[in-house]
Amino acid sequence: MGFFSKSPARPDTPADPRIEFKVQPRARRISLKMDNARRRMIVNAPSERQMPAARRFARDKADWIAVHLEALPPAQPFEKGGYVMYQGAPALIVSPPGRGRPRFEPATEHSPAKLIVPAPPDALDGRVRRFLIKQAREAVTQCTQYHAEQLGVTVSKITVRDTSSRWGSCAPGGVISYSWRLICAPPFVLDYVCAHEVAHIIEANHSRAFWDLLDTLVDTVKPAKKWLNTNGAKLHAVGANF
Ligand SMILES: [Zn+2]
Repeated sequence: MGFFSKSPARPDTPADPRIEFKVQPRARRISLKMDNARRRMIVNAPSERQMPAARRFARDKADWIAVHLEALPPAQPFEKGGYVMYQGAPALIVSPPGRGRPRFEPATEHSPAKLIVPAPPDALDGRVRRFLIKQAREAVTQCTQYHAEQLGVTVSKITVRDTSSRWGSCAPGGVISYSWRLICAPPFVLDYVCAHEVAHIIEANHSRAFWDLLDTLVDTVKPAKKWLNTNGAKLHAVGANF
């Protein structure tokens, strides 16, 4: 009943891009779930039919949703004059005209670190992103190979993606994948994640033997895990537009 209600439809408020509605057949009821990696509140409805109810539910919970969204670190869009976290420190995005190669310039006594990315304004976001992914790929490849040599194991493939739940993962056969966002973390954190995944080639678990093996590769397990727990959401804010 009330399903074909005659009451005039309320004009929809402009959709907040930070709220995503999803049909989730396995869900038993309408529910909210914060997705920190994608910086969104997910509103799950068991079926398409329950979507209007899901929208009402989200409106009723607007305050609660706002509190959670506002707890996220501010978005760091790739904009001229903005800052991006790079190797654990802020780097100023400088975008001169022209088509030169993007490059990183370390901080000096007189100027902050810079990402120098020549690009027209509408291509800047893509160029910064590709530059970071390329730097990430180089860094994790070098680091992974170093640790693999230490353990005498073979890594068959390294991929770099935008993962949401894990910074790295190791599949059987020595296939390792990483989040490109690790290039934004301090180098000791990237190093730890690479060592962690390489150690999984020998110990495909999180047993005592695994952690002991990892300790032979790096001595920064605790601080690196702590850094990721504290700052993981900041890595997901890199390049976010809202
Ligand atoms: Zn692991």
